[in-house]
Amino acid sequence: MNEPLLQVRGLTVSYGGGSVAVDQVDLDVHDGEVCLVLGANGAGKTSLLRGIGGFAASERGRVRSGKVLIGGADVTGRPPRTMVGHGVVLVPEENKVFRTLTVGENLRAAPMTGDRGSRRELLDEVVSLFPFIRERMDLPAGQLSGGERQLLGIARALLLKPRLLMVDEASLGLSPIAVRKVFDSLHSLVAAKGMTLLIVEQNVRAARAIADRAHVMVSGTFALSGPAREVLESEQVRRTYLGLE
Ligand code: ATP
Repeated sequence: MNEPLLQVRGLTVSYGGGSVAVDQVDLDVHDGEVCLVLGANGAGKTSLLRGIGGFAASERGRVRSGKVLIGGADVTGRPPRTMVGHGVVLVPEENKVFRTLTVGENLRAAPMTGDRGSRRELLDEVVSLFPFIRERMDLPAGQLSGGERQLLGIARALLLKPRLLMVDEASLGLSPIAVRKVFDSLHSLVAAKGMTLLIVEQNVRAARAIADRAHVMVSGTFALSGPAREVLESEQVRRTYLGLE
């Protein structure tokens, strides 16, 4: 098999006082793969994504040890801006779209690179992936439904041309119908673009349609890893996440 796009080795992430949130995690994500991380609140999922995609200066978290490689390049502990340059883009849990700006303004505010022509082309391509965006271009983003706002955040991330798109809890706070819409769109994205995804998700039902591999995180480590179908069918996951006996 080819070298993984993302290689994480022994990654340990901690916060100020020394509390360890991610404890020596190993993770490979291959090109075109959809990798799912699930786990209870506080298990360390967000800290893992931040440890890979970088902590902003205002955040107290940092990579204490281990390595993060993208396409073989060592990018351990780099800030988010540098990681975007390496094609790693995170859509955070508290997906920040600017509610008072219009949908179009939100998209144009994404820090895209390239000349005007190529930016226009990319914008058209992204809009064609999410048809509702074209109809709502002039509407303030605050008037979108929760699911549409989530998709707008993902569309903005796509404008940064990710090789690896990381999405933290896309379903959080959404109605079942909105969750379905968001995951159908992610599904199309994978099918149309062969996008590589690393997603944190507690909604196992939504995620299982698109995940290739899955990892269950418990207290900062992976307690269970494998092909998504096997992991999601395991007794532990069925009992904990699907409420099945
Ligand atoms: P959730 O689903 O609730 O977001 P999670 O699995 O993403 O949970 P993290 O948010 O990564 O888990 O938290 C892992 C651990 O790190 C927790 O013990 C949490 O209290 C701690 N932690 C997270 N962010 C910070 C922070 N900014 N400062 C200090 N400790 C933090």
